[in-house]
Amino acid sequence: MHARNVINDLRELAKLTSNADGAQRLAWGPVWRQARQWFNGKLAELGITPELDAAGNSWATRRGDSDRTVIIGSHLDSVPNGGWLDGALGMMAGLEALRMFKDQRPPVTLKVVDWADEEGARFSRSLLGSSAASGSLEVSEVEHLADKTGVRLVDALKENGVELSRMHESQKHLKAINAKAYLELHIEQGPVLEAANKSAGIVIGTFGVERHLLRFVGQAAHSGSTPIPMRKDAFLAAAESTLAFREIARKHTTPQSRVVCTVGTVKVEPGIVTAVPGVCEISLDQRALDAGVLAQMLADARAASWRIAADNNVSVEWQRIWKIEPRPFDPALIKLCAEAVQEVTGDAPRLPSGPLHDAAEMVPHMPVVMMFTYSSNGLSHCKEEDTPEEHLEKAIDAFLLLVRKVSYST
Ligand SMILES: [Zn+2]
Repeated sequence: MHARNVINDLRELAKLTSNADGAQRLAWGPVWRQARQWFNGKLAELGITPELDAAGNSWATRRGDSDRTVIIGSHLDSVPNGGWLDGALGMMAGLEALRMFKDQRPPVTLKVVDWADEEGARFSRSLLGSSAASGSLEVSEVEHLADKTGVRLVDALKENGVELSRMHESQKHLKAINAKAYLELHIEQGPVLEAANKSAGIVIGTFGVERHLLRFVGQAAHSGSTPIPMRKDAFLAAAESTLAFREIARKHTTPQSRVVCTVGTVKVEPGIVTAVPGVCEISLDQRALDAGVLAQMLADARAASWRIAADNNVSVEWQRIWKIEPRPFDPALIKLCAEAVQEVTGDAPRLPSGPLHDAAEMVPHMPVVMMFTYSSNGLSHCKEEDTPEEHLEKAIDAFLLLVRKVSYST
């Protein structure tokens, strides 16, 4: 029954806020505001009026016997041409959790938060509302941002009653909550649960990321006249390093811990079919849940690139583009989450999250856990995004069971 309500709400929202290309709930725009208004109508049926914090995050509260608070978070915003589940699933599950306690006062206070602009699809800054509330947002980092049409972030915010310079005040709002736990249900957006045919999985944390640009420099030379042993081919050094990076990721992958690495860009100079490449620049994105493993992967990759550069008579320089620490989730909540998933689905697969989520921003402030559900073909951020209903129902049931378990746990 509960799962049915959630799916019906999801279909209703999709109908209201999608066109033939998919969901159009771009943060700070009219369709997103319409989605929030629709959601507020559902809350009104429960006698709940949500409040906005200084960052535009919307908080719905059901007071319980204690002010200890279980927060259920997600986001109503979508990417342009998005799917019907990313973000919306977590919000509708939160709404159903509030319904679950409509006629029965919960032992703890329940809050459902709709984080503003999780996707960052319009202004290129993901997790905007949750990072403001958690204190990790620097105004200087976003004040210059504008969308494709030239509208500035600061003006789009103002249109929605949010002052960029005061977004940090949402921290006070978050700190005032006596938080017992933060829970988030989300689609996996990857192929792991589908491959194992599992409806739901326990997320043990979000990956840390080390992202670098590597510049290999050799010597451009004529492809006809330069003998192979005398070349300084920067591309070959980059290519050999790329294969070595894959081996490093394989070496650090264990049954308990999957790590990944990706060389996503390659730029060769001079880029002429008759010239030995003198310069080759590649990106390397390494991810792992364990900070020590991530550091070792990086050290291994550096060492491999230096060795391979020397073998190829070229030099290599590393430049860091971005880094974020791994955010492991709370062991006690992981255990409760595993119990809930086990009871409903008969199994309790654990997996890390490659993508970041608002939940990661809450890790420094309170115990956090996420639950993932099966994603068809691993697709997300597109209209094909889907979860078969029989899997979706089980995941929703497991999540609501988790909410009850956490609410009644001491
Ligand atoms: Zn999402």
